[in-house]
Amino acid sequence: MKIHEYQAKEILKGCGVPVPKGKVAETPEEARKVAEEIGGKAIVVKAQIHAGGRGKGGGVKLVSTPQEAEKAAKEILGMTLVTHQTGSSGRVVRKVLVEEGMKIKEELYLGVVIDRSKASPVVMASREGGVEIEKVAAQTPEKIVKEWIDPLMGFKPFHANKIGYGLGLEPGQVGKMRSVLSGLYKAFYEKDCLLAEINPLVLTESGDFIALDAKLNFDDNGLFRHKEISSLRDLNEEVPLEVEASRYNLNYIKLDGNVGCMVNGAGLAMATMDIIKVVGAEPANFLDVGGGATVEMVKNGFRILMSDPDVKVVFINIFGGILRCDTLAKGVTEAVAEVKVNLPVVVRLEGTNVEEGRRILNQSGLNFTVAIGMKEAAQKVAEALKTLG
Ligand code: GDP
Ligand code: MN
Repeated sequence: MKIHEYQAKEILKGCGVPVPKGKVAETPEEARKVAEEIGGKAIVVKAQIHAGGRGKGGGVKLVSTPQEAEKAAKEILGMTLVTHQTGSSGRVVRKVLVEEGMKIKEELYLGVVIDRSKASPVVMASREGGVEIEKVAAQTPEKIVKEWIDPLMGFKPFHANKIGYGLGLEPGQVGKMRSVLSGLYKAFYEKDCLLAEINPLVLTESGDFIALDAKLNFDDNGLFRHKEISSLRDLNEEVPLEVEASRYNLNYIKLDGNVGCMVNGAGLAMATMDIIKVVGAEPANFLDVGGGATVEMVKNGFRILMSDPDVKVVFINIFGGILRCDTLAKGVTEAVAEVKVNLPVVVRLEGTNVEEGRRILNQSGLNFTVAIGMKEAAQKVAEALKTLG
């Protein structure tokens, strides 16, 4: 799960990371009031969307009076912000963060993620932070200092020292950065994050470190023990069909192609997408109905999959283990009869009660192509696409 910058800053602040004074606003008037409260001659108005690259996309404006803050908020609120992380359709901005502006001497990067190959969190830092960090990682990776943290030992002062001196900071600066680093790690660890990032962490002209931007992504599997974080979810930022699917405990992921995929299990989903690509097609989505799906869940899943206008052919690929093939077949035939599908549907079933499942499909009077084996099924999907032109 993702949250907004203003929410991430609240959490980091609670962990002892210094952040600029500021507040979120939903109208230009509110933005002006926040700017008045902050005072001073430098104000920043920032679009709040669940994507980075806002600076380059025109979603961050520096102003110097509350009136200008109001005007900037008016321009940003309601705009469709397109950045390298939003895709070409962009995101509508519904909130802005209004903050005190900083006198920036240097922009650094700090991040914590899990390094799966070492089975431990890794803290990354660079003095070349800011909007070009992707370029730094690609072109000059030696400018990124990394420190792996034993999760049982936790983040210790010596880790911070290694990072700080590794970056070539002065001793006084290393001391200041230590509390930022341990605060960031604390947030990452205690809140079950997949990613905790400050980019940029700025060194101000007065010599302090302040988190100018913040990003926290959470592991959904850990959310049950963080009710306060679940409540920060912003459904406006999520793909509507993905939200609907999550309501029925279905896993639905939107992709760019035109083959709608219904599968059970993430491994089979990967294999299905691979084989679709092998026959020269592209998946439009994948919908994982999971192991213990009911007829009702299969029906809802199929309906969700069909409401994606990009879907031209449906590929149902099920290995019946706990989810029995007859249950799947019943759900799909009921859904097809209700939704009045007129797209080609290719079904490949294997496993428990497979004969019964195939019989239900064949006798439904509906237009299914039942295939034996994944390869044959994928080829039938490709043929169906060709016939459509
Ligand atoms: P992102 O582009 O979505 O990552 O948004 P950021 O919050 O990182 O802002 C992008 C850039 O805007 C930063 O790297 C800074 O250069 C600039 N910026 C943001 N806040 C301030 C500020 O208070 N003062 C100044 N001078 N620049 C700022
Ligand atoms: Mn940033």
